[in-house]
Amino acid sequence: MSANVKPIRGMNDLLPPDSAHWQQVEDLVREVLQDYGYREIRVPVVERTELFRRSIGEVTDIVEKEMYTFEDRSGDSLTLRPEATAGIVRAGISNGLIHNQRHRLWCKGPMFRYERPQKGRYRQFHQIDVEALGYAGPDIDAEMILMSARLWRKLGLGGLKLELNSLGTPAARQVYRDKLVAHFSRHLDVLDEDSRRRLDSNPLRILDSKNPAMAEIVAAAPVITDHLDDESRAHFDALCSILDSAGISYSINPRLVRGLDYYSKTVFEWLTDQLGAQGAVCSGGRYDLLVEQLGGSATPAIGWALGVERLVALLRATGFPFADPIPDVYMVLAGGKAESAGLPLAEKLRDKIPGLRLEVNCGGGSFKSQFRRADRSGAGLAIIIGDAETEQRRAGLKPLRGGDKQVDVAWDELATHIGNFLDSNQPGARQGDRLD
Ligand code: ATP
Ligand code: MG
Repeated sequence: MSANVKPIRGMNDLLPPDSAHWQQVEDLVREVLQDYGYREIRVPVVERTELFRRSIGEVTDIVEKEMYTFEDRSGDSLTLRPEATAGIVRAGISNGLIHNQRHRLWCKGPMFRYERPQKGRYRQFHQIDVEALGYAGPDIDAEMILMSARLWRKLGLGGLKLELNSLGTPAARQVYRDKLVAHFSRHLDVLDEDSRRRLDSNPLRILDSKNPAMAEIVAAAPVITDHLDDESRAHFDALCSILDSAGISYSINPRLVRGLDYYSKTVFEWLTDQLGAQGAVCSGGRYDLLVEQLGGSATPAIGWALGVERLVALLRATGFPFADPIPDVYMVLAGGKAESAGLPLAEKLRDKIPGLRLEVNCGGGSFKSQFRRADRSGAGLAIIIGDAETEQRRAGLKPLRGGDKQVDVAWDELATHIGNFLDSNQPGARQGDRLD
């Protein structure tokens, strides 16, 4: 026997029933986004490497060490997307969605970063990503936050904390940047190698360092909120005041700088303390200069992304009622005649009872083993057909939970009986249905 091909570290298979749980979460998120007027966009998983270099920034962890970059067969440098914003902006420009327009968009799918795999941190992970192109805010900034807050409520998540900051305009950031460089230059001995290198190229990134040895000098660094320009200050104040009147609590974290270069003004994160070190469930911010930087006409925009793995993990930790879709009815078919009549009969039942979850026994087996499968399937009812029943066009109907007796029914009456059974046994939502 030849050796197994190994999976790639940090890239997970999503198996049932977890896949059904993901669908449940994704459906719920999609409903909320749709209710706010967001429409789905699907963009490629692969883009030109240049797109990410120019948007995320040369001197960021993502571009310096985390991208899956390769040459295709014609020698073009391509990269598996590490995030969705750049691709969506690129798609907006490529498809003429930018100039004098407004678009509320969302997208979902896998992202790729060559990080150190650990709980809540993977090399292929999944995001649901939301972008509003052509909106200067702060109204849309507030609406995005209110929308995410509604989502947490809908998911029953009470404990998420919102952190906010403003990164100001580039001009304000330049002034701030000089102060930061001056501060960190006085503590060169404490800076790690990455940070020393970034002192010239991207000193704000040092604030994002997770190195505990540097925590003290990072805490003592000057803060951007003391250096905001008037316009950014007014924008931020207006955002905070909408959040205040909507009753959203938040804390302002002046050290929240985010790991990508394209942000300006508003940035925010929703954090949990229930997932250990990987506490950011959802993060985003405004990127007013990115569209122009990528060749489109100047267009303000803001977006956020949530990590699906982390959200699902948090929902598990908080006891979210995940449901596994189970069949309503299992059809037992014993004998050659029954087997050949069973599938056409099942089709008729599906026609007559919309939404019927019917699992037909395929692959034969004794009555006993088919009953075992019926039981394991979780179905509440079995349709039992042997060769003799097939000749008479009749079937046994046996409730699988509780002690009710098997009844004998003509095929023409089956749909009515099954319908009645489902109505009386599953009033309201069925297990596996979406929860609202
Ligand atoms: P972190 O600070 O945890 O590295 P980030 O700031 O790099 O997060 P973003 O680039 O803003 O994250 O991505 C948005 C969301 O995607 C995060 O809030 C997180 O939930 C999720 N996420 C980011 N990187 C990973 C990863 N490697 N594995 C799983 N989820 C991730
Ligand atoms: Mg990161």
